[in-house]
Amino acid sequence: MEKSLYYSLNQFLKERFGEKVKKIPLDAGFTCPNRDGTKGKGGCIYCDAKGSGTGLGQSLSLKEQIEFFIERFKKKGFKKFIAYFQSFSNSYGPLSKLRETYSIILNYPEIIGLAIGTRPDCIDIGVINLLKEFQYLGYYLWVELGLQSKHNQTLKFINRGHTFEDFLSAFYLLKEHEIPVVVHIIFGLPGESRDMMLDTVKTLSELKPEGIKFHALYILEGSPLGELYKAGKVKELSLKEYASLVGDSLSFLPPETVIHRLTSDPPKEGLLSPMWLLNKNQVIKSITDYMKETGQYQGKFYHNLS
Ligand code: SF4
Repeated sequence: MEKSLYYSLNQFLKERFGEKVKKIPLDAGFTCPNRDGTKGKGGCIYCDAKGSGTGLGQSLSLKEQIEFFIERFKKKGFKKFIAYFQSFSNSYGPLSKLRETYSIILNYPEIIGLAIGTRPDCIDIGVINLLKEFQYLGYYLWVELGLQSKHNQTLKFINRGHTFEDFLSAFYLLKEHEIPVVVHIIFGLPGESRDMMLDTVKTLSELKPEGIKFHALYILEGSPLGELYKAGKVKELSLKEYASLVGDSLSFLPPETVIHRLTSDPPKEGLLSPMWLLNKNQVIKSITDYMKETGQYQGKFYHNLS
């Protein structure tokens, strides 16, 4: 059998649970401190009104979303699920509200895990203790932290509202409490060279998060980034550039880091650029083709970094 070029989430879940497991994306109606004025207003310059999620929270209750996805994926043969609180910052709010929200999974025996997408500045010991309760109950748990870039000048430019040091504090706090961390990064952020992007990956490979999600920056109509793009001040990556960036990055990562995502899933409506992101299969094929052509695989250069 052909050796896998990277360690995918599907492979990891199958190994851990002995069968395929499906993540269900949920919009629990949270907001984000970078949008409500606590940290900033308007959010990250690329953020859309759905807070990088499904937007389903506006029309369906959490219960309805869970039951919709479970029913849909059961028809495709899945029997186990991970509740993925995806939209906006899912650890931002009073602990009582967080507890009530996460606890909905207790009603569904087929849900065996909990994934929380959030910002580094929304992790504190109260949140960690709450998450530990679910871990003690036997749920497989991880936290997804948006870093995007290790470069503070980039984080400032994109109006992220936190620094790399804030990310490190949250990351170490989670690690100290044995909560797995999945880190999101974005390639193609304004002002970043290829070396800067790979530098972020090399730093992550030293930190050894349990997982990583690669995103290509996409530009939406109506976002501050969209205005910069129309003014000719932002240039998107080409598919070729993105494929080689992800391919090279995988070589630098530890072989055991789980790859949760290789590319972004932009909405078709309102997408200004890059349009190649709409063909996800082609993006993934371009990455794997590049890896094959260059003889790369995940972890190939990991040990050369230290
Ligand atoms: S942290 Fe996420 S939800 Fe908040 S503004 Fe940035 S992209 Fe939007």
